Amino acid sequence: MKDTSLAPPLRGTTPAQHCLMIIATGLPIFALQWLTFHRLLAHPDAAVVTWPAAVRLGLVVMAVTTLIDIAIVLWLWPRRQRPAALPRLEMLLAVLHTGGLVTIGILFGPYTSPVNMAAVISLIVGLALLGRRAVVTGFLLSVAGLAICQGLVMAGVLPYSPVLVPGTFIRDVPLAWWMNWRDLMFAAALLSGVVFMGWLFARIDRQRQELEELSRTDGLTGLANRRHFMERLEVETFRRDRYQRPFCVVLCDADHFKKVNDTWGHHAGDKVLRKIGEILSNLRRPPDVAARFGGEEFALLLPETNAEQAQAICERLRAMLEAEEFDSDGRGEDRPRFRVTISMGGVECRRATGEDALKAADQNLYAAKAGGRNRVVLSVEA
Ligand code: GH3
Ligand code: MG
Ligand code: MG
Repeated sequence: MKDTSLAPPLRGTTPAQHCLMIIATGLPIFALQWLTFHRLLAHPDAAVVTWPAAVRLGLVVMAVTTLIDIAIVLWLWPRRQRPAALPRLEMLLAVLHTGGLVTIGILFGPYTSPVNMAAVISLIVGLALLGRRAVVTGFLLSVAGLAICQGLVMAGVLPYSPVLVPGTFIRDVPLAWWMNWRDLMFAAALLSGVVFMGWLFARIDRQRQELEELSRTDGLTGLANRRHFMERLEVETFRRDRYQRPFCVVLCDADHFKKVNDTWGHHAGDKVLRKIGEILSNLRRPPDVAARFGGEEFALLLPETNAEQAQAICERLRAMLEAEEFDSDGRGEDRPRFRVTISMGGVECRRATGEDALKAADQNLYAAKAGGRNRVVLSVEA
């Protein structure tokens, strides 16, 4: 049986997967932008671009950003399941992608191009996936870049939107490539945002399911915990009242378990508890609930079951545990082996509340202990 006590509580995504997700949202934009600058230089309308040097600069920045992204993907993909933190890579990505976006923003004019949308989306993506240092660095870098750009524009050193001088319109008709660029950029940013949001919500949903599962599971045995058992017991009393079908509640308690721990070690004691959990979960039918009630005590809820049927199930559990041999703590083939027994008290519940059923089962468990242990005592509650 799986040792759930050693499993990490949540199977979250790894930092490497987060970095890959960052690249998945940024790379399409930079690659498309590279293509756009390339087309722009070859386009007949390029004559209206008064700063071809700005286009070339943009082309180089986009090419470098795209190629570094691809190189990171090739390096990171085989390592994507590793749980190690990657603060330096996160920082590199934050700086690289902020640099790429700020470059596009400055070249096309930050206030009149769809770069705004890409910037907002990348901030959300960064906050969800990267460490705080990387996000703050990226944010400060973009503010500084845009402020410097604004200063240079105000000083007359740099035209606003240097790749679009004298503007995006000729006699009120927007230039075709400008419209294409805008559409392309808009689509790329939107696509990245949609893919990311889909992934993010799927992850939140998966983690919610895992947390729900954890909140009703016992960590050592993987059985239901006491809280979940009590919830199901309450539901079952409603069902019983409605359909008039009795259910059984059984409490099981390992015999002389303190002695097991004291004699064979706590680790061996845990192994016994896990074995009991394994037997119980194999014995239970789909509607039954098997729970660890606390310590070395377990509980069974058997819907639509009478005392006779419950007796048969309990006898099987008792016999299966009795037949099991356990290793004590320690090494070597000759380490001593031991056996453990279990006592059970149960009740067929026809009208009583769940709480009264548990009390009656507990009294029968006490009777089983007093009667010599390793036995089942069941009664019918009228
Ligand atoms: P009885 O037959 O009357 O039930 O005797 P007992 O020794 O089983 O009962 P008691 O309640 O005196 O002792 C229960 C022991 O169960 C004490 C505690 O050390 C042990 N125990 C409780 N939880 C765990 C656990 O998670 N792991 C291990 N190894 N032992 C546990
Ligand atoms: Mg006990
Ligand atoms: Mg006990």
